[in-house]
Amino acid sequence: MKPDPVIAVDGLTRRFGDVVAVDGLTLEIRPGEVFGFLGHNGAGKTTTVRLLNGLLSPDGGAVRVLGLEPVKDGPELRRRTGVLTETPSLDERLTGRENLEIYAVLYGVPRAEVPGRIESLLVGFELAHRAEEKAGAYSKGMKQRLALARALLHEPELLFLDEPTSGLDPVGARRVHELITRLSQEQHRTVLLCTH
Ligand code: ATP
Repeated sequence: MKPDPVIAVDGLTRRFGDVVAVDGLTLEIRPGEVFGFLGHNGAGKTTTVRLLNGLLSPDGGAVRVLGLEPVKDGPELRRRTGVLTETPSLDERLTGRENLEIYAVLYGVPRAEVPGRIESLLVGFELAHRAEEKAGAYSKGMKQRLALARALLHEPELLFLDEPTSGLDPVGARRVHELITRLSQEQHRTVLLCTH
């Protein structure tokens, strides 16, 4: 028997005035899948991610994410998902480690687990040697890896990654792709990967 889908969408539609941003989208994503969601600029990827997280209401169609209704169950859903937006907002005045510490508090990570989780993310994302430097001094690739580490702090089952390699050079992009593959293969996380 196939496992229940993590994301089940049927005929999802969302308009902004005359613009149909998402037009009858139907898809299913199963546990542990890395689902590539491809589309040109303006195709509706970001709008879809916002609909799936309950940050926008659909105009039509049915959506279940982790068995929940995104708009109604938004707070629970967002506790169980991680989102990397196209332009992640790091606090550039804080160090890499402090950026993670603040999020750990916001996400309610059990206090005793915070130092260990942060350390292992910093090591896994090759940021440990620069952890005490301000994030404003990081390269674009390092900022992107820090934002990805931050999206994982609360150990979400499902990750929405909106163009996680945008602006990275080929080496930086490959590193991020390797990390995403590891998340799926070693930790069985489900990933919706939006890209051009
Ligand atoms: P990109 O690759 O450029 O990020 P995208 O695939 O993520 O694009 P969306 O950002 O979802 O695309 O936009 C889809 C369409 O919906 C676009 O025409 C956009 O202008 C429109 N749109 C998105 N959000 C809004 C909004 N809040 N108000 C009005 N129009 C919007």
